[in-house]
Amino acid sequence: MTTSGRHTAEITPPAATACAACAHPLADHDALGVRFCTASAASGLSRGCICGK
Ligand SMILES: [Zn+2]
Ligand SMILES: [Zn+2]
Repeated sequence: MTTSGRHTAEITPPAATACAACAHPLADHDALGVRFCTASAASGLSRGCICGK
C-alpha cells in the first residue's frame, strides 16, 4: 500500500528587493553602492555598479 505523500509546497523565500540599476539585491549594496545605483537608476544610466560582487 502506498502512502499518499503530501506534496510539500516549495517554500520560496521572499524575493530580495532587487536593485533598480543592477542585478544585485539591495542587501548586497553598501551605503555607497546604494547611492551609486540609485543615482544610476534616477539618471537612466547603465554604468554598471560598484557592488564588487
Ligand atoms: Zn545596484
Ligand atoms: Zn550591483
